[in-house]
Amino acid sequence: MSEEATEPVKVLVTPVKCAYDFTPGQATTKFLRAMEQGKIMGQACDGCGKVYVPPRGACARCGRATSTEVELKDTGTVVSFSIVRVPSENIQVELPYVAANVCLDGADIAFTALMQDCPADEVRIGMRVKAVWLPKDQWTTSMTNIDHFVPLDEPDVPFEKIKEIS
Ligand SMILES: [Zn+2]
Repeated sequence: MSEEATEPVKVLVTPVKCAYDFTPGQATTKFLRAMEQGKIMGQACDGCGKVYVPPRGACARCGRATSTEVELKDTGTVVSFSIVRVPSENIQVELPYVAANVCLDGADIAFTALMQDCPADEVRIGMRVKAVWLPKDQWTTSMTNIDHFVPLDEPDVPFEKIKEIS
């Protein structure tokens, strides 16, 4: 046997696919139906009052139900972010781009969104941002109705005011 044939294989590149069905449940269904109308509906915890968007029906902090509907604006604050420099065949965005965790005004939890119209090295924690929606005729029951976020010309939010947001 040749020396090459006894070398251990260290890297194997193979395509992997994972298809699954997502059952949104009652809280997220309300959220997705509102998205279809261009509205962002969160829910407030019946115990601690924290506002979740997208809602999951229960509070991650105290376990109580989140049954109070809260309509949120499409403006928010970057609470953390990643600069993506690795290409992916599933993402057709010019590199590098920023995946930001955005906490909408009035919410207590952030979600991940694409930042655009801003150089990656200018995105920062505390940056004020606004959603850019797809054209109305493309709206569906999906979070992807919000295509991306862009900077708002407003002063940054001090870290002390957003440090508790996850
Ligand atoms: Zn709570």
